[in-house]
Amino acid sequence: MPLVDSKAMLIYAQEHEFAVGAFNANNMEIAQAIVEAAEEEKAPVIVQISQGAIEYAGENCLFAIVKSLADKANVPVVCHLDHGVDFHTVIRALRAGFTSLMFDGSSLPFEENVRVTKSLVEIAHAAAVPLEAEIGKVPDAAKGQLSPEEVQKYLTTPEEAMEFYERTGVDSLAVSVGSAHRMKVQSARLDIERITRIRERIKVPLVLHGASGVLDESISAAIRAGIAKINFATELNKAFTAGIKQKLSDDPGLVDVRKYGSFGRENVKKVVKEKIRLLDSANKAEEVLKFIQNKKLIEDKNDKSKIVE
Ligand SMILES: [Zn+2]
Repeated sequence: MPLVDSKAMLIYAQEHEFAVGAFNANNMEIAQAIVEAAEEEKAPVIVQISQGAIEYAGENCLFAIVKSLADKANVPVVCHLDHGVDFHTVIRALRAGFTSLMFDGSSLPFEENVRVTKSLVEIAHAAAVPLEAEIGKVPDAAKGQLSPEEVQKYLTTPEEAMEFYERTGVDSLAVSVGSAHRMKVQSARLDIERITRIRERIKVPLVLHGASGVLDESISAAIRAGIAKINFATELNKAFTAGIKQKLSDDPGLVDVRKYGSFGRENVKKVVKEKIRLLDSANKAEEVLKFIQNKKLIEDKNDKSKIVE
C-alpha cells in the first residue's frame, strides 16, 4: 500500500496504550528487515532515515527503497526523517516525499528552536505532512557512559515542553526522560513520573529516542504513561554487524555481498520483531489502517464543505 503519514497512527497508538516502533534504516538490507518484520507481526511501522544516513546514501535513494518496500507491504509504513538538524535538510526530505519529518533544534537556544520549528511546522502542514520536534535534549553516550548528573542536566521539564508545544504546534514531541543515544548496553531506567507530568500538559503523542539502552520494563511503563513512538537505531546496527561478522568468521573465503548481507538482514529482522512485541504493536496494523482511513474521510469531507462555503 502507499506510504502513510505518522499523525493518525501515533494518535491511535497513544489512545490505545501501545507504541509504534521507529527503526533506523541505513541501507537496503536494514530497510527490508524492518518492513518484513512488521509484515510478519502485522504491525504498523515507521522506517526512519537520519541525517547521517542521508549523508551516507542520499535522501532520494533511501526514500525510493522505503517507498518501494511500502508499496508491496500489507501493513501501513511511514517514511520518517530522523533528526533533521537544519532547515534545509527538513525541506529536502519533504521534497523527496518523506511522509513524516523531524526537526531537532534541541542544541539551539530555546527561542531559536521555537522560531525554526514553527516555520517548519507551517511549511510541513501546507503539504499535509506531520512534524516532530525535540525539547530538552536526549544526550549522546557515544563517548562513554554518561553520569546520572549529566543525564539529569538535559531532562525535559513539563513547563518548557508545554510552552514549546503551544508556540510551535508540532504534531509529536521528543522528550528527554532518562534515555541516551548510542548506548550499547541496555541499562537505563526512565523517569516515568516526568513523562506523566508532561503528558498532562500536552495533547500530542510523545516520542522516546535512544531506546536501545533502556530496560524493557521501563519501556512498557513509559508507553502506559503516554509515549507513542519509540526509536531504535543502535541495536539494529549491532545486529546487522554481528550477523555479518559471524558469517565471515564461519566462512572467511566468502566474498559475495549477498551471501553475508542476508545474514545481517536476518539478525536485524529478529531484533525488530522482538521490539514490535515489546511495544505491543503486533497485530495492530488493521485497526490502525481503519483509523487512518476514517480520519482521512472526515478531513476530506471537511475540506469539501470549506470549498462550498
Ligand atoms: Zn534520536
